[in-house]
Amino acid sequence: MRILVTGGAGFIGSNFILNNIENHVIINYDKLTYAGNLDNLSSISNHKNYSFIKGDIKDNNKINEILNSFNPDAIINFAAESHVDRSIDGPRIFVETNILGTFELLNCAFQYYNNLDLSKKNTFRFLHVSTDEVYGSLGKEGKFCEKTSYNPTSPYSASKASSDHLVKAWYYTFNFPILITNCSNNYGPYQFPEKLIPLMIANCLNHKKLPIYGSGKNIRDWIYVDDHCQGIYKVLKNGRLGETYNIGGNQEVSNLSIVEKICDILDKIKPSNNLKNYKELITFVDDRPGHDFRYAIDSSKIEEELNFFPKENLETGLKKTIDWYISNMNWINKIKDSKYNQERLGINLK
Ligand code: NAD
Repeated sequence: MRILVTGGAGFIGSNFILNNIENHVIINYDKLTYAGNLDNLSSISNHKNYSFIKGDIKDNNKINEILNSFNPDAIINFAAESHVDRSIDGPRIFVETNILGTFELLNCAFQYYNNLDLSKKNTFRFLHVSTDEVYGSLGKEGKFCEKTSYNPTSPYSASKASSDHLVKAWYYTFNFPILITNCSNNYGPYQFPEKLIPLMIANCLNHKKLPIYGSGKNIRDWIYVDDHCQGIYKVLKNGRLGETYNIGGNQEVSNLSIVEKICDILDKIKPSNNLKNYKELITFVDDRPGHDFRYAIDSSKIEEELNFFPKENLETGLKKTIDWYISNMNWINKIKDSKYNQERLGINLK
C-alpha cells in the first residue's frame, strides 16, 4: 500500500511507520510540534519506502498537493495535540488541530477519493486514530464498548470526540470509507516524557521525585504501543467500513501501582547507589482538575471480528520499555535540554 501517515513523528505514528516501512510506501506528514521528533525515525530516514514532509493537517493546499502527487491507498490520521494537561493550560490549539485540522484533512481526502477510479475507490480507506477518553470516566465497574455514549470531560477528549463525530459524519453523509479506532493508554519507546510512564522512568534514573496526581487510585488500561499499531493495521486491512473498533490492552492498573511496578523493575535491573529503592521518590501532588477515575476497554469486537489480541502484558511490555529508555537516555536528555524539563503541566487554570 501507499500510505499517507499524518503525525508520524509523534510517539504512536513513528512506531507505526517503523513497524510497517518494509512492506509499504509511506509519506510521513507532520507539523513537528513540540511532540514531533524526527530522531524517532532516524534509522529509516534514507529508506526507499519512506519520505517526510513537514506541514499542518489544517493546510489544505499542501494536503491536496500531496494527495494528488502521492496517490495514496490509505490515510492514517495520528496527527493531534495529545496531552490532557496541556489542554487544560491551553485548549485553543486542541480545537485548531484536533477539530479544524481533522476537518480539513477529511475534506481534502474526500475530494481526492471522489476523483479516484472505481477499483481504487473500492479499496481506499481513511483511518482516524482516537482515544478511549472520548467515553468519559467509568466507576469501579463496567467497560467501554463501541456503543458507549460519548461523554468527554477534558478539552483534549472533547476535541478528539468532535473529530470522531466529523469522521463518522463523512461516512453517513457522503459514503466516505472511514474507520475509527479508540484505544486505551499506550506506552513504549519514543513516548514524549510528559506522559506518565516515560516521565517516571526518566525521573527514577535522574533521582527526581515521582509526582503522583491525587491519591494515585485512578485506573488506566495500558497497551504496549506495538500492539496498538498491530490493531490499527488489522482494522485498516479488514475492518468494516464506517465502523469503530476499540483497542485495549486488558491490563488495568492504578497509577500508583504502575509507578511502583516501574520502581520494582528498576530496583532489579538498575539499582540506585543512593536510595534504598526507587519507591522512596514517590510523592503525591495536587490532582489533575477533572481527573477521570477509570478507563477500561471491552475489546471483544476487534477480538472476534479481526482476531486481534495484544502480545504484551504489563510485565513484559514494561520491561521492554524500561530497557529501551535505559539504552536511549540520550533521546530523552535531548528533549529535556530543548523542549521539556519534566515540569508540572495542567495546573495553570486561567
Ligand atoms: P504525540 O503527541 O506523541 O504525537 C502527535 C504528532 O502529531 C506529533 O508528531 C506532532 O508534531 C503531530 N502534529 C500535531 N499537530 C499537528 C498538525 N496540526 N498537523 C500535523 N501534525 C501535527 O501523540 P501520540 O501519543 O503519538 O498519539 C497519536 C494519536 O493517537 C493521537 O490522535 C492521540 O489522540 C491518539 N491516541 C493516543 C494514545 C496514547 O496513549 N498516547 C491513546 C489513544 C489514542
